[in-house]
Amino acid sequence: MEDNILVVKNLSKEFPIYKGLLRKKSATVKAVNDVSFEIKRGETLGLVGESGSGKTTLGRLILRAIEPTAGEVIYNFADETNVDFLKLNKKQLKKTRTKIQMVFQDPYSSLNPRMTVRDIIAETLVANKTMSRSEIDNRVREIADLCKLNLEHLRRFPHAFSGGQRQRIGIARALAVNPEFVVCDESVSALDVSVQAEIINLFKEMQAIKDITYLFIAHDLSIVEHISDRIIVMYLGQIVEEADKRTLFENPMHPYTEALMSAIPEPDPLRKMAPIFLEGEIPNPMNLPTGCYFHPRCHYATEKCKKEMPCLRCFGNHKVACHRAEELHLKQYIKY
Ligand code: SF4
Repeated sequence: MEDNILVVKNLSKEFPIYKGLLRKKSATVKAVNDVSFEIKRGETLGLVGESGSGKTTLGRLILRAIEPTAGEVIYNFADETNVDFLKLNKKQLKKTRTKIQMVFQDPYSSLNPRMTVRDIIAETLVANKTMSRSEIDNRVREIADLCKLNLEHLRRFPHAFSGGQRQRIGIARALAVNPEFVVCDESVSALDVSVQAEIINLFKEMQAIKDITYLFIAHDLSIVEHISDRIIVMYLGQIVEEADKRTLFENPMHPYTEALMSAIPEPDPLRKMAPIFLEGEIPNPMNLPTGCYFHPRCHYATEKCKKEMPCLRCFGNHKVACHRAEELHLKQYIKY
């Protein structure tokens, strides 16, 4: 268990919907539905799914940015194991939060335009009140240098930087407190493709230098493919497939994963999978389908799929939630 920096057990989050003048509860949205998984120390777990699949809510739950409806979140840090994160009081939470950081999606709105780059990177260090001003300055210069920021530019404001440089500032801010675990929520999605590659390489370099564990959230399977060791695919708040990267790309077992793979842009026409068009939008989470949540859009659905919800089953280290996992021979995204 201590190999795992994070263990998530049966985590759920429901949001009540209120209607009318009397604000009566009219419905419940199940954003995250009984999700369990682990992340090993030093690995990168990719979390992928369409918009509305619950991946961002899951990321916020394990940071306790929002409180879950049910479940457990256990951290094993280098100096403290079995930390029941959801039971920490305010003071304990503040201390523990330095070990867990987040890199946000939008490099434009996530940086305070009135603060210099030096002050943005130093913000958490100042709030912790454990370092002197000269120690903070040294740490800021060290981390800015590692993130390939020009040290001459530390006195400038965020508006003077490009999107890629701003994301480097965001990464430097997250890593300044030497976190053990970082949640990257669509951290490269807003950037150009060439800048995306630079930032992904920076994440990898920082992982090698500082032994960081990442949860890398993205809607695009091609982005998580470049950085992840293992990948979890989510659909409507549930895990539908989980495997190491190679197994997932060579042998996808869930029709939703197959459809996501067919959407990966591939410049070589001989390698490209024929696109699989999913019918309609992701269903309304206030009105979930019966049986398998994916059945209204699945090309392989049967009568059983409409009535019975599939559970997440193990095939070695490969987990799949599909009634027809053994019999379907889905298209591979052969690249390895
Ligand atoms: Fe498709 Fe049925 Fe599998 Fe759901 S259980 S993914 S509907 S084949």
